[in-house]
Amino acid sequence: MPSRHTPTTFWARVDQRGIDECWLWRLARDEYGYGRVRYHQREWHAHRLAWALVHGDPGTNCVCHHCDNPPCCNPAHLFRGTHTDNMQDSTRKGRHPRNATSYLPEGAAHHFNAQPETRLCGERNGQHVLTEDEVRAVLQRYVAGESAYRLAEAYGVVKGTIQFIVSGQTWQHVPREDARVPRAGATRYDATTIAALRTMFAMGSVTQVELARRFRISTSQVNRILRGRSRR
Ligand SMILES: [Zn+2]
Repeated sequence: MPSRHTPTTFWARVDQRGIDECWLWRLARDEYGYGRVRYHQREWHAHRLAWALVHGDPGTNCVCHHCDNPPCCNPAHLFRGTHTDNMQDSTRKGRHPRNATSYLPEGAAHHFNAQPETRLCGERNGQHVLTEDEVRAVLQRYVAGESAYRLAEAYGVVKGTIQFIVSGQTWQHVPREDARVPRAGATRYDATTIAALRTMFAMGSVTQVELARRFRISTSQVNRILRGRSRR
């Protein structure tokens, strides 16, 4: 008997849009806005399952949002972090009421204890969480011409974090006067994008033309990515 729980059934419950838009979970959400889903006898956060279906189980790490949008399941908006990252991230971005970590329930009722798959044990993985001063500096240095790649190295974050800052998708409250607007069409294919594209195609539910539309690249680029990675 075929399982009701397949990647295809999962992605059908995600409002899949363009690669730089948020893909919202359509069904149940928890009190923090994260999508909830039962998948093969396990309770998951929808975004965490989205990550797992593309990259494999993140294990003890949590899965965080570049876009600061809890129900978002767009693989390109997700990154693997630690519990500490996630808590600092959420708190700094004001997700928790009044920015107060003391609001969070303690012990067994704690968000991450109540949902063991999100818990992190162990140390931070080196993924630095930026302060507001650092974000200002990032914006200044970016305007001055430094690349997202160099800034990511300098601040110990993934390149996507810098790209989200400079494009105004995160840290919107930090003033930005004349930050360079990323050039349209200057899409770089990072590992996440490639993995997301391949996963969706492998599920058989989308055509290459549709993938090209969603990822805002040409069909020949889609074809090249799929073929380039098809030899193992
Ligand atoms: Zn998003």
